[in-house]
Amino acid sequence: MSFSFTTIPQFHQQLKSGATTCINAVEHFLLEIETKKHLNAFVAVFAQDARGQAVILDARIAAGDELLPLHGVVIAVKDVMCIKDKPVSAASHMLKGFHSLYTATALQRLINAGAIIIGTCNCDEFAMGSSNENSAYGPALNAADTTKVPGGSSGGSAVAVQASLCMLSLGSDTGGSIRQPAGFCGVVGLKPGYGRISRYGLIAYGSSFDCIGVFGKSVSDVAMVFETMAGHDALDATSGIQPVQIFSPGYTDNLKYRFAYFESTLTLPGLDPEIRTQFEGLLEKLRSEGHIVEAVPFELLDYIVPAYYVLTTAEATSNLSRYDGVRFGHRSAIETDDLTEFYKHNRSEGFGAEVKRRIMLGNFVLSSGFYDAYFTKAQQVRKLLCDQTSTVFRSYQALLMPVSPTTAFSAGSHSADPVAMYLADIYTVFANLTGIPGMAVPLFEHSNGMPYGLQVMTNQWDELTLHHICYYLKSRFAKDLI
Ligand code: GLN
Repeated sequence: MSFSFTTIPQFHQQLKSGATTCINAVEHFLLEIETKKHLNAFVAVFAQDARGQAVILDARIAAGDELLPLHGVVIAVKDVMCIKDKPVSAASHMLKGFHSLYTATALQRLINAGAIIIGTCNCDEFAMGSSNENSAYGPALNAADTTKVPGGSSGGSAVAVQASLCMLSLGSDTGGSIRQPAGFCGVVGLKPGYGRISRYGLIAYGSSFDCIGVFGKSVSDVAMVFETMAGHDALDATSGIQPVQIFSPGYTDNLKYRFAYFESTLTLPGLDPEIRTQFEGLLEKLRSEGHIVEAVPFELLDYIVPAYYVLTTAEATSNLSRYDGVRFGHRSAIETDDLTEFYKHNRSEGFGAEVKRRIMLGNFVLSSGFYDAYFTKAQQVRKLLCDQTSTVFRSYQALLMPVSPTTAFSAGSHSADPVAMYLADIYTVFANLTGIPGMAVPLFEHSNGMPYGLQVMTNQWDELTLHHICYYLKSRFAKDLI
């Protein structure tokens, strides 16, 4: 039985009519993963578990049961989320061979809703990076042009959707790690607001920034997976109690929106002129469709990347201290009676260069004498950004920005210059510093042949408006799936 996937509702129609089965879908994706192995999108494939799950789900259909909300939906997961008894490594030598003791709440909710987890996806080590080149498994490749990076850190998850190796995938976004690779690969990428989806079972990078989110080809599928995972969880004290509203396509088709954008984001020297021109062209089209689109002053652009890197490295250095080779992590074969030496060997061998750089940076910004100059200052910047965000959303429903200043760059081109790599996050870290939701919508194609996205952000707890706006933008201005 041949198989092709478009959207979850269409797949469910096919299941109901008997045109396909869950096992057929799973076999199809297992074959695709094998055929496109060179993209290095997956680090583990759970073929037997996925087949077993599919057989159970097909038996329910045969028995005449109602379909579950995500019945048979084949999902791939970034290698930073725990699934009981399955390997999870954060793409690090440090955790190679480690098996999870429990399942992340977000994943458990998907599994309860009938989803099938097909495997784990490549990423930058401990989610630190913008190109998927900092992985213990080697880089994932952009399927649109394999000489280009897919973005990071959730590069493998983006490629898995881009190359149709699964129906949807999960990533994590601390500073752009879902939206940036979604933009680079031409797929939809959602970072929910902070606290929307439980972080229980997500390997921590920057705990006050980390969010689990979704990659897909259609906004409505992404919204459906988001809604299944979202909502309060007693196992994560930072998860919000606000009710999760359910998206329904087309509901707001004729609404007129109030869009804001920051003028300074368009005059950034590193912004590709073609991205700017297309972005401004879109603003014009929105105006001509009757929406209000206005520039809002924003003086803090130069501070957001430094503030992000000060705060996240400080949090990361604390989170990563548990990997010492005693309770968790790689243990060196070098014998020593000295405890400090023992830790040094374990951590020096286990962590890669970028993770070490961030641990050192984080310790530096937290050290007495420098704490106020860096950490406190960065917290102040964060507060100013949150205040500014509240002001924007008092007058507008959405904030528009490019996702990244460039399209996907060539593999190796940024590796020697960490600051250049960090500056590539300039448009994405804003949503993480302020905790608001953001989505990358694949609307554009550059003359260099690469796809790229538009970023839409809405107020905290307002993913519903985000989904409606992105659904509208994609159905109106992009040709493929909505
Ligand atoms: N590129 C950013 C970083 O390296 C974002 C990472 C992320 O969102 N996990 O920190």
